[in-house]
Amino acid sequence: MLQCTINRSVETQGIGLHTGVHTNLRLLPAPPDTGIVFRRVDLDNFAIEAHGHNVARVSYATSLMKQSVLLSTTEHLLAATYSYGIDNIFIDIDNIEIPILDGSAEPFMQLLDQAGIRRLRRKRRFLKVRKPVEVVEDGRRIGIYPANEFHVRCYVDFPHPLVGQQEVEMVVNPESFRQVLSRARTFCFESDIEPLRAMGLIRGGSLDNAIVLTKDGVMNGPLRFPDEFGRHKALDLIGDLALVGLPLLGRVEARKAGHSLHTQLVSRLLADTSAWEITTADPAQDSHQPADRFAEPATAAD
Ligand SMILES: [Zn+2]
Repeated sequence: MLQCTINRSVETQGIGLHTGVHTNLRLLPAPPDTGIVFRRVDLDNFAIEAHGHNVARVSYATSLMKQSVLLSTTEHLLAATYSYGIDNIFIDIDNIEIPILDGSAEPFMQLLDQAGIRRLRRKRRFLKVRKPVEVVEDGRRIGIYPANEFHVRCYVDFPHPLVGQQEVEMVVNPESFRQVLSRARTFCFESDIEPLRAMGLIRGGSLDNAIVLTKDGVMNGPLRFPDEFGRHKALDLIGDLALVGLPLLGRVEARKAGHSLHTQLVSRLLADTSAWEITTADPAQDSHQPADRFAEPATAAD
């Protein structure tokens, strides 16, 4: 199990969902143990690591901030790179927000396909969960539990005839992410549009990059899946979990959660170093090995 980066640089461009700014985005290969690192090329290549310690305010999208340099709406791109199995990559952008493109992760998957994968001569490191960590808040909850693979279960419940209760449960790997989640798009309720605009959000939002739900239907159908909403929430969840900074070996259960709870879980998990360890062994590839092989104490904090 070796670390991966991309094989060649690729680029795209587009507008940000919330700020409406136009951003050029380029993905570049990175050396072993770099992780996923954003670089603001408009600010002397200022680097912001895709890591829980750089999470900024989080509301309708996940933003990172380091030394007051902000970077918005990271979740769809991170969901794609993380699920694709990319350990190391530079993401160069020349503005404040990642382009929303069609509102899903599919354009980023196509970009990664175009870039190709390169294996590096360094063992992949996993963050293996050893004990449960949970965050509960007014009927919403999220938890992460020990498991030998990266497994997510995501439940949503919106009082709308096209949504209602939807649940996605899967082992996350490049194939399952591509097939089940990558094409599911962002959505919003028509009744939320004016309040969100009044808050200075969704300035780049349009019928081309978000599903808009009316009182009892959808303004810009057809849907890509009957349960596209639940699938998109699972996509968002994975994009936020990428902020753990390493591939996860653990099972995550989210119930009516969102970016705030997702990122709180990441912070709480990273802060409790007794809840995980770093291992280079992938038990899914090595299931005949005794369990105590992974019982060494964590060697790297944060
Ligand atoms: Zn999203």
